[in-house]
Amino acid sequence: MILLLGGTTEGRRLAELLDEAHVPYVLSLAGRTSNPIVRGTVRTGGFGGADGLAAYLIGSAIEVVVDATHPFARTMSTNAAAACHQAGIPLVRLDRPGWSTHPLAHTWTWVDDHAAAAAAVLLLGASRVLLTVGRLHTLDYSPALDQLAVLARVAEPPSGDLPPTWRLLQARGPFTIQGEGHLLRSHRIDTLVTKDSGGEATAAKLAAAAEAGVRVVMVRRAGRGNGEAVDSVEAALAALAKFHPHVTQKSQGTL
Ligand code: NAP
Repeated sequence: MILLLGGTTEGRRLAELLDEAHVPYVLSLAGRTSNPIVRGTVRTGGFGGADGLAAYLIGSAIEVVVDATHPFARTMSTNAAAACHQAGIPLVRLDRPGWSTHPLAHTWTWVDDHAAAAAAVLLLGASRVLLTVGRLHTLDYSPALDQLAVLARVAEPPSGDLPPTWRLLQARGPFTIQGEGHLLRSHRIDTLVTKDSGGEATAAKLAAAAEAGVRVVMVRRAGRGNGEAVDSVEAALAALAKFHPHVTQKSQGTL
């Protein structure tokens, strides 16, 4: 049995491919998204840290774990690495490529964390900001940016009140360059703050920002620990085939 730690487009896609190939797996979700679009066997909610996950792995006869969580889901990735080590189970880490090699990357202000991003926004003299750092970190920018006009775009609303000068925009990708350009111009945005999530669904804002002369503050990724690292769903399937014979045998038609 494969345990697939999901919460991303790639996790969902990998689950679909395993499902189509009739390879047994459990897709695990944190339970943060209301009505996630998924199929197959799904479990929801935390495991209770690395020890809880290790107990789950052993108790559920898991043979291999795929960490397909978001590149910024650091706690889950650290726990997955520790639990797999503890349980003696192989780990495949699916990390979609980030934007550090994007042709415009050298034009952005790169920072290590959200506190540094907020400080950079103030140093750059921004006044109208598009903030796309995810629901969990949106409010990290308050009180630092409370005096600025901030448009906070999130897929799910943050659990707290926004400062009076901020506006919430609830939207889920994929976004287009044209649509992002319109958003930046209509809100007269001068600075985009985002994180190096990678992925095609949200990359349009970077090209649109360049076209509109909007500066970009980018939060870097941190390392994600142990396991066999792969950067695509196809590479994850190939890695799984080494640990789980069903994948090679049954997914040939799918690949
Ligand atoms: P996190 O800080 O790394 O994880 C916090 C806790 O949530 C974990 O310790 C774990 O609880 C539980 N958890 C996380 N992912 C889980 C999963 N797939 N299955 C079961 N439990 C899980 O993660 P996060 O940044 O809060 O993100 C939560 C979920 O949203 C992740 O699955 C991630 O893929 C997805 N997501 C995150 C972002 C982002 O920017 N961070 C963006 C899009 C989607 P226990 O310790 O109790 O096991």
